[in-house]
Amino acid sequence: MTLYVPRIGLCVRCVHHRVTGNRRGSQFHLCGLASTDARFRKYPRLPMLRCEGFQDVEDLTEQGRDEESDE
Ligand code: SF4
Repeated sequence: MTLYVPRIGLCVRCVHHRVTGNRRGSQFHLCGLASTDARFRKYPRLPMLRCEGFQDVEDLTEQGRDEESDE
């Protein structure tokens, strides 16, 4: 199932996406790639519509399924 959240855009489906929050209930969307690659912002401007670092979380899930079926 593909998740689409217009306010966030691509990041919500990306393996590098992290969500953090504070005690007041605010949520912040972080890019994990920013810690190793200066081209990416720690807090990306949302909604993200196009991104070179985007890696679909569903691709990894499918890879895992393929690896399990090979065993
Ligand atoms: S790599 Fe791009 S799409 Fe993925 S979390 Fe970072 S900014 Fe968002």
